Amino acid sequence: MSTQDVRTHTAVHVLKGAVQNVLGAKWTASTYVSDGHGRLTVQFDRKPTDEEVSRIEQAANRKVQEGSEVLEFEMEREEAENHFGKEIYDLFPVPEGVTRLKIVRIVDWNVNCCAEAHLASTSDVGPVRLGKPRFRNSRRELELEFDLADAAPNR
Ligand SMILES: [Zn+2]
Repeated sequence: MSTQDVRTHTAVHVLKGAVQNVLGAKWTASTYVSDGHGRLTVQFDRKPTDEEVSRIEQAANRKVQEGSEVLEFEMEREEAENHFGKEIYDLFPVPEGVTRLKIVRIVDWNVNCCAEAHLASTSDVGPVRLGKPRFRNSRRELELEFDLADAAPNR
């Protein structure tokens, strides 16, 4: 992953926590990162209001400004499941044979099982701008696109 992709991927984790806090949507269906652009798709049952979307954006940016540590560590799978619950997986399958997991924890925010690279602090993500969300009713999925503030405007 490029440095910019690492930033954008770290922003996905921050945004995920904001979506959990504001909407209570805790299951991520997929994520996408390309340069300074990203997308988080979560399971949800309706289109969010404009107010909710701006609260998500504000919560994510507050977390960036806080400069929270992004901790990465390995754990035995069983221990991780007992300690954090199944929410660490989202909807991504982890093969049964895998017994140790890489865990990513943003302090006072959220915890996920994730093998990708991350920044050490949320402050290095910089400001995050949410685009217009898309709700797919048939799939009960909410897509939240975002740009990092210094990303190229064309997409
Ligand atoms: Zn990650």
